[in-house]
Amino acid sequence: MAAAKRVPRSTNSETEAIADLGWPDWIDPAATSRLREAILGGRIGHSYLLSGPKGVGKAAAARAFAQALCCTSEERKDRSDPCGRCRACRNVLRGVHPDVETFSLDTQEMLADKPGRGSNLTIETVRRLRSSGALFPMESDRRILIIDDAETLLEPAQQALLKTLEEPPQGVTLMLLTDEPEILLETVRSRCQEVALRPIPQVMVAQALQRRGVAESLAIEVAMLSRGCPGWAIAAAADKKLLQARRDERDSAVRWIASPRYERLVTAFTLGDQFGKRRAEVVGVLQAAIQLLRDEMIVAAQAAGEAGENEPQSVGVTPPAVLFSRAIGATLQCLSDLNSNVRPRLALEAMVVTWPNSEMRDR
Ligand SMILES: [Zn+2]
Repeated sequence: MAAAKRVPRSTNSETEAIADLGWPDWIDPAATSRLREAILGGRIGHSYLLSGPKGVGKAAAARAFAQALCCTSEERKDRSDPCGRCRACRNVLRGVHPDVETFSLDTQEMLADKPGRGSNLTIETVRRLRSSGALFPMESDRRILIIDDAETLLEPAQQALLKTLEEPPQGVTLMLLTDEPEILLETVRSRCQEVALRPIPQVMVAQALQRRGVAESLAIEVAMLSRGCPGWAIAAAADKKLLQARRDERDSAVRWIASPRYERLVTAFTLGDQFGKRRAEVVGVLQAAIQLLRDEMIVAAQAAGEAGENEPQSVGVTPPAVLFSRAIGATLQCLSDLNSNVRPRLALEAMVVTWPNSEMRDR
């Protein structure tokens, strides 16, 4: 069991609130293995793209990777395993190691002349990264430059970054972190080794919380709301506001799905018209809706199994599990449409008409 301690939040990234020694035991093990094997095999790439939903552990993975490359302990298991305790490991964690630099909306705001947090990483930030990449490492063999919020790079900034990706400086590894890899230019993506961090099962999220001393009942509730993102869960277990916001999203999704068809449409139109102002909230409610529909689908499939309905359905009768599956597909499509140029009102309308009529169970 890894020891854990809390450090003050230095950035907006949810995973920054957690400090594990070495590799976090709560991130997608396949992603951890890939990064560790690269170090062990001496095949450290020039550029990685760590992708996955917010709070899945991208920043924690990048931090552990950087620690492994900078760690000076003689006593670690192997080169891919940072000790977490030496001066270098602690400095990486605190964001003060001279060979590890993070570029994000937060660091950009700290360095900006004007107050206010922008919503895009600027070309100046990319220039700063390029200058940083030209430096020689001071304490380790390599410089690790982490670009968080990479999806906020506008095209000119991505073009500037592309020059660095095309002619990577010796001894530099770039790590782009993003929850929306599809937004990046294909030329940028194709020059990075993509390591996707997948959400982990709810039961594993709950276990990670309990290992950190979170009471069982809270751990189970937070895990249920986590969408498989342990970084979010660990932060939310200690942050009532974060947790309440997600409870509210879930309650809104339950009310919306449980309402009669006409009311569902009215809600879809209202949210569609207000989408510009309430984007994050609407996306959150849709993600909660997907989770609820999945739960309903599992219940329906189990009920069908118990009733022995394994033979083909008679014509004209669609089993409930299939209806839920369609509704999930339509809701995922709506999320994708809201990211492209489809009018929000139309996207939401097309989604709600596929939702089956069901009494949402009180959970
Ligand atoms: Zn160390």
